[in-house]
Amino acid sequence: MDGRALATRIRAGIAADVAELGQLALATVLVGDDPASHIYIRLKHEAATAAGIEPIDRRLPADVTEAELLELVASLNGDDDIDGVLVQLPLPAHIDEARVIRTVDPVKDVDGYHPWNAGHLYLGRQTHVPATPLGVMALLTEYRIPVAGARAVVIGRSQIVGKPMAMLLMHANATVTICHSRTEELQRHTLDADIVVAAVGHAALLAPDMVKQGATVVDVGMNRTDAGIVGDVDPGVAEVAGHITPVPGGVGPMTIALLLANTVRAARYRRGLLAFPQPEGYVSRA
Ligand code: NAD
Repeated sequence: MDGRALATRIRAGIAADVAELGQLALATVLVGDDPASHIYIRLKHEAATAAGIEPIDRRLPADVTEAELLELVASLNGDDDIDGVLVQLPLPAHIDEARVIRTVDPVKDVDGYHPWNAGHLYLGRQTHVPATPLGVMALLTEYRIPVAGARAVVIGRSQIVGKPMAMLLMHANATVTICHSRTEELQRHTLDADIVVAAVGHAALLAPDMVKQGATVVDVGMNRTDAGIVGDVDPGVAEVAGHITPVPGGVGPMTIALLLANTVRAARYRRGLLAFPQPEGYVSRA
């Protein structure tokens, strides 16, 4: 499943949407000097610019106080020219990540990490949904992988990939099993699956003898090795799987494309073209 090709098409559609909506801006906040985070921010900015979305690049040193970071997020929330706000994770250990996520205006929360948006995903009424699992669903749709009634195994239960992935698959009527670091006999679960999504961060975790013949395998993993970036899926799985995503060129480009799609969604919320479900008594800046 070619994520690069699909992402290119999605991004062309987004560029057309942006041209229609007018000026859009996506603010990113990068704290410290994690090399991987720097690369992700650069890729997001390049993609935003190519789609006609203005990237607003805010950077803070690793020793910034939590209060200063919260103040910056609040100012971006309050800036009427900014449609989307994302804080690149991970944050330095002295900062309460959950608190920072809660500070982002839910309407501008293009990562979909705010509990308000995560709660709506849980309820099956999607608002902003994390881009990586959205991208996986778009790939499954593109390649006409039957999801309704399928047995899906998600390996990983993180807030940003595993859990929202499981929710989306369940809402699409798959029978979903979530496996994680404490799962015993992982192979018993994966061998039974029509769809396996690996989101662990462990190179070659999913071996060929763990996959049913003809199954669809989605590799979310991005692991830095001496041989370059590799996924969570052993290359030998390609011999067994019916469909598989490569790394790189699978889920990665889709994540970026769906982040831009979320920015367009935020712009629509903010312009009153889509209704954002507001908490009672909560005054958003939309
Ligand atoms: P995380 O570290 O937050 O979560 C990893 C999950 O894997 C945990 O829930 C843990 O329970 C589970 N796990 C750990 N060891 C396991 C084992 N032996 N068996 C089964 N489950 C195990 O990671 P994350 O943020 O969800 O990211 C997962 C991977 O996906 C990483 O490689 C990350 O770089 C990659 N990622 C890629 C994209 C993309 O766009 N392609 C986006 C986000 C994350």
